[in-house]
Amino acid sequence: MLNCFQNYLPVRIIFGANSLSQIGYHASLLGKKALIVTTGPYFEECGLINRIKKILAEADVTSCHYDAISPNPQYIEVDRCAAYAREQGVDLVIGLGGGSAMDAAKGVAVAVKHEGSIWDYIWWGKPDDRAPDPQKTLPIITVTTTSGTGSHVTPYSVLTNPETHEKPSVAADALFAKVAIVDPELMLTLPPKITASTGFDILFHSEEGYTSLTATPLTDLYNEKAIALVGQYLPRAVQDGSDIEARTALAFADTLAGFSLSVASITLNHALGHAIGGISNTSHGECLCATALRTMQHNSLAACEKYLRIGGLLTGQANASCIEETIQTVDRLLVQNGMKIKLSQLGIKTGDFSNILRSAKKYMGPSLEHNPRTIVDQEVIDILSKSM
Ligand code: NAD
Repeated sequence: MLNCFQNYLPVRIIFGANSLSQIGYHASLLGKKALIVTTGPYFEECGLINRIKKILAEADVTSCHYDAISPNPQYIEVDRCAAYAREQGVDLVIGLGGGSAMDAAKGVAVAVKHEGSIWDYIWWGKPDDRAPDPQKTLPIITVTTTSGTGSHVTPYSVLTNPETHEKPSVAADALFAKVAIVDPELMLTLPPKITASTGFDILFHSEEGYTSLTATPLTDLYNEKAIALVGQYLPRAVQDGSDIEARTALAFADTLAGFSLSVASITLNHALGHAIGGISNTSHGECLCATALRTMQHNSLAACEKYLRIGGLLTGQANASCIEETIQTVDRLLVQNGMKIKLSQLGIKTGDFSNILRSAKKYMGPSLEHNPRTIVDQEVIDILSKSM
């Protein structure tokens, strides 16, 4: 018998090669002037901004572009971009790029019409947190160009505070995009290193969502499929970035894992990954890879059957015969795709451990609460030590 569960995913998804050509029609239903947000000048230089502006203009939507956003976007960059959006009088925000650009765009959509800084709307898991008003938040279109974060379909905007080294999220239904364009042709230019690091983000969203205490029968379906697709297609996309079949499969896996992330909580590895990323400012995928094997080993004691299944899904065979086989499969995938990373290589020192633990508890509380195995401080410190 099925247990009770909720599922809320109000994003219209336009999936498939050349789906970008449909952005004009959808934008015209949502606004008259769009701000396109990117991280850096790459998309201007490769001609994509001009292409999008032309498609929008044909649908009577004018547009402007803002690119002063860093990977792992800082809240202050979002505030500055929101000031520009106000000056320009935009009524629609388009996030074009990976998780960083899409998260910044979602933050901007809130900050344009809300008082104060976007940082005032961070979700700390406290009853008096200020939540963005959905009526005031501008409509959002996400155009994803990486396959990893699921941000195109999630209600989160992950932001970094360089002063406090924290990396929490604004998290509210108001942040769901109205439309997500998932066009695998846009991912063909993604370099192998970013393909690999984002691909592992899919895997760990799925692995954590699958073993989370908040997993549902639907998220299990999303995650099983996503894990199998990553096992089959990630090495192909890393080896040959122009492999459109592999790019399409990963874009689908990313979307499925994003569905799960919107509904079922991620767990210990992501809680640590955010805290580590706040200190190291290295890529999200690298942070996750550094602690993944140890957190999986740790959690497998409490979710044995699901970890056996993960091993089987990754290799396209029956369940793994023991947990060690699953761990070795993930280890091989990390090595094969150049992502076997130690925490020390990300600049983390043993002196940072207590800060990582404190940050994880401060703003990733639900991820720790929904971890399949109860969190004990010393065990987390041991995981970090063994990941150095
Ligand atoms: P990213 O957005 O930081 O992009 C990495 C680099 O790749 C950038 O320099 C970008 O310009 C470049 N790039 C992107 N697409 C490209 C393409 N097609 N061709 C060439 N270059 C391209 O990387 P990401 O991993 O997608 O996003 C990471 C951010 O997302 C982190 O801040 C992470 O915390 C956040 N995140 C958000 C969610 C969410 O639900 N909102 C979930 C997980 C992670």
